[in-house]
Amino acid sequence: MFTPVTGRSVVVTGGTKGIGKGIARVFARAGANVLIVGRDEQAASAAARELGVSHLAADVSRAEDCARIAETAVRRHGGVDVLCANAGVFPDKRLTDMTEDDIDQVLGVNIKGTMLCVKACLSPLQASGHGRVILTSSITGPVTGYPGWSHYGASKAAQLGFMRTAAMELAPKGITINAVLPGNILTDSLMEHGEDYLRGMTAAIPLGRLGTTEDIGNACLFLATDEAAYITGHSMVVDGGQILPESQEALGLM
Ligand code: NAP
Repeated sequence: MFTPVTGRSVVVTGGTKGIGKGIARVFARAGANVLIVGRDEQAASAAARELGVSHLAADVSRAEDCARIAETAVRRHGGVDVLCANAGVFPDKRLTDMTEDDIDQVLGVNIKGTMLCVKACLSPLQASGHGRVILTSSITGPVTGYPGWSHYGASKAAQLGFMRTAAMELAPKGITINAVLPGNILTDSLMEHGEDYLRGMTAAIPLGRLGTTEDIGNACLFLATDEAAYITGHSMVVDGGQILPESQEALGLM
């Protein structure tokens, strides 16, 4: 049995929609005090009402907003025990059409935003005595490729490069940092791609279904438990076996 996270202060950036909302739901159900963050105030407040959690409108790509996230969690929930740095964007653009602004936007939110949030929460994470940082990376970039997402894949791989050195710097502060690497998770954004896309994606997954946002939340919850205290600098693929087949033929042989 894992030690409950009841009463712990958990910040989930990008917790207003999709995977982050699933992460927030899992922690809220486990009795944690959750603060969800997104740029859209209305979406954040609606999600907070639905989940019974606290919310803040902030942009993780801005250092002053990240400071506000940490201050708000400390003021409302007495500290930061767990930071789920999950906020991310994934606009589809081929390299030939990609502009400098496209690159700045994706790297600004996904990698700079991750680093700024972690940096802003360091002091309360250290004060908690069992600080946990959990990054939402992706299989795209660290393990696989997908046309249209070269900037995205670069940002998701960069999160892991950041994590490994941060894990060493944060270890003496009693803070662990790990990453979850989701495969194809069923969110509203993914559903916008249409039924054919979803069917094709499902066919590529050995476990025969798309992931749920709570599948990712459960992995984050595990990494936040006291029992995961000796794990740092690691990444956990949560993808129903999607990256395993070495070819289409191998998948067909199942
Ligand atoms: P989503 O449904 O589009 O949700 C993204 C969340 O991030 C929203 O809450 C959004 O709120 C917030 N956000 C975006 N930019 C932000 C910013 N600058 N500051 C603060 N919040 C911001 O996306 P998702 O599919 O759940 O993805 C969440 C994470 O999972 C991302 O890091 C993504 O790379 C990763 N991921 C997703 C999948 C998948 O299959 N869905 C697979 C692998 C990895 P606002 O728009 O209101 O700011």
